[in-house]
Amino acid sequence: MSSGLVPTVNVLGLSYADSSPAALKCFFHTQLTRGSTPMSVFTPNATIAAAAARDDALCSLLQRGELLLPDGRGVLLAARLAHTPLTTRLPGIEAGETVLSLCASLHLPVYFLGAAPGVARRAAERWKERLPTLPLAGWHHGYFSPEDNADILHDIRCAGARVVLVCLGFPAQEKWIAENAPSLPDVKLLMGLGGSFDVWAGDIRRAPRAWQRMGLEWLWRSMRKPARLRTLIPAIGYLRAAKRSARQKKPVKI
Ligand code: UDP
Repeated sequence: MSSGLVPTVNVLGLSYADSSPAALKCFFHTQLTRGSTPMSVFTPNATIAAAAARDDALCSLLQRGELLLPDGRGVLLAARLAHTPLTTRLPGIEAGETVLSLCASLHLPVYFLGAAPGVARRAAERWKERLPTLPLAGWHHGYFSPEDNADILHDIRCAGARVVLVCLGFPAQEKWIAENAPSLPDVKLLMGLGGSFDVWAGDIRRAPRAWQRMGLEWLWRSMRKPARLRTLIPAIGYLRAAKRSARQKKPVKI
């Protein structure tokens, strides 16, 4: 599904928002103030997009998001190689920060779900220090059993959350959002934000701005967690598939 209000560009089967950060902020404002049903926002990077290009079930899962943000240079590069260019990257963590500042000014309660025990609470409290008018609906760590899910939904509803930020990693966060959004009719926005709570809690540092500008955030993260280098091979396959799709003028399988 794709958002009716944000222009989108289809890259290998996924429709990404093609918007400036400022236009995206206006869109979130409209959804938060006037949206009548919960909206799911997913933030695929090249590794996630590569997994989706290889696996129809993962692709369908991502397509259930109403808004997909191109999180990182890899998706932009694939879009260019496929001759369907995107204007700019829209990192999930920055979109999350935009939504938090809107929630502070609109007084909309935010729930933080995910990451290791204690991290979501620290991330939420640090945001509260930065944005004192931000209403905190609550938090829960991301290592819960299926039996705990009903209690988490109950907490979210009772606290009157209007935004739920979900950091369980891919594809758990997208699955959680797709399965649970229908049970949260008062929530306006659910966002899958990967490792954002770890950064906001101060446990992990984002790549320096210069590295981000050069498109090297993936290298920074791989240096801190070498296991991530494994994702490089599927990401290269994804870029090659993008190039082939431009020649064949249709999405191709990896
Ligand atoms: N996580 C979680 N529950 C799980 C597995 C992972 O809450 O069962 C959290 C993990 O602690 C981390 C986040 O999900 O905070 C995923 O971070 P990662 O940097 O791997 O995500 P990415 O940004 O690469 O999608």
